[in-house]
Amino acid sequence: MSAAADRMTAHDDGLILDAIDKWLEQKVKPVAMELEHDDVYPESLVEDMKELGLFGALIDPEWGGLGMSATTYAKVVARISEEWMSLTGIFNSHLMMALVVQRFGTDEQKTYWLPKFVTGELRGALGLTEPDAGTDLQSIRTTARRDGDDYVVNGTKTWISNAIEGHCVALLVKTDLDAKPRYKGMSMLIVPKIDPETRASLPGVRNGRKLDKLGYKGIDSGEFVFEDYHCNAARSLVGGVEGQGFFMATGGLEIGRINVAARAVGVSRRALRESVAYAQVRKTMGKPICEHQAIQLKLGEMATKARAAELLVEDAARLYDTGARVDMEAGMAKYFASETAAELAFEAMRIHGAYGYSKEYPIERLYRDAPLMCIGEGTNEMQRIIIAKQLVKRNPV
Ligand SMILES: Cc1cc2nc3c(=O)[nH]c(=O)nc-3n(C[C@H](O)[C@H](O)[C@H](O)COP(=O)(O)OP(=O)(O)OC[C@H]3O[C@@H](n4cnc5c(N)ncnc54)[C@H](O)[C@@H]3O)c2cc1C
Repeated sequence: MSAAADRMTAHDDGLILDAIDKWLEQKVKPVAMELEHDDVYPESLVEDMKELGLFGALIDPEWGGLGMSATTYAKVVARISEEWMSLTGIFNSHLMMALVVQRFGTDEQKTYWLPKFVTGELRGALGLTEPDAGTDLQSIRTTARRDGDDYVVNGTKTWISNAIEGHCVALLVKTDLDAKPRYKGMSMLIVPKIDPETRASLPGVRNGRKLDKLGYKGIDSGEFVFEDYHCNAARSLVGGVEGQGFFMATGGLEIGRINVAARAVGVSRRALRESVAYAQVRKTMGKPICEHQAIQLKLGEMATKARAAELLVEDAARLYDTGARVDMEAGMAKYFASETAAELAFEAMRIHGAYGYSKEYPIERLYRDAPLMCIGEGTNEMQRIIIAKQLVKRNPV
């Protein structure tokens, strides 16, 4: 078992889940619908998330974090997503950045960044995607050129969660444009938009557009534009060595995929819960629609797929906690759980009829939120390719 899995006992697990449930009921439920429809950043819920320790959920207690296991984290993410999936992006994207420092940073970098990250005082993002590079990360064009003690960064990142409301980004850059293979010329920098001490804006970095989206509202997705941005190399270059960025970016994706799969589980559970309740009160032909076989077939299939998705996520998280590589298991969980969420959201809409299409019910939100999980953290096309490659690798003939 990993250190994190050892630390988070069943007792702690129960305590944190109880605290999350209370918060969801008292604070999130009353405001989620309105904030989502208005696409408003949930400032006061972010303050609550700081209190709950969510910005340090996966960071070791040595740095002030909760040191949660992936198993507990997946449960937390699924429960929050049942109420409002967007909230999980605010702390998860931040944690992907913080984990890069915890895993690969120098001692000085950990000491400097992690205590600021765990409190949510400095919040951030993972900046990989560019206008011309998503799946094919090796074709990114953002560069960092060494200039004395500094790096000088130029380029544009897009689709970055927390880009606008966050203060910092783990930035995938090219430090050697001629490297072959291309990934050997990629490095990871921790790059603040504000001076961490004075909180004054820094020159050379600005946010471009805030992107308008189908769903996943409330959390900001935006662009970063770097124009001769200077950062101190010792503090920024993660691990102090160039050429490791591609592995840092892709190494963090396993827990990222477990997180996306857990979000999808939350969306599926909500779609099922709403459907089971609605089917008992909506009547047609003199009886509740849950007594019509057509609806029973839907509910039976939805419940089975929702449970299968939960079990795949539990399996991937449990294995991750043993310290094993879980590309295949995390890929399976992410692929199946996200496709299930998209399918269940649509089935819930059919069960709710016109009311599923109405903004007064949560179903239309689930329907708009679910597709993100099929695209983010590696598209589902790529997940199946990863699963197949792992199958062959693990079963050589
Ligand atoms: C709401 C939202 C939030 C996001 N947040 C972040 C974030 O915080 N940080 C970040 O860095 N990125 C973020 N992203 C970007 C996301 O990671 C990318 O959208 C994703 O990696 C896919 O890249 P792309 O959109 O460029 O699609 P492309 O890479 O252009 O792919 C287009 C299509 O081609 C398929 N395809 C591509 N290559 C192959 C191949 N080799 N074999 C088979 N099929 C292939 C894909 O599966 C897809 O169907 C976010 C995206 C969204 C929508």
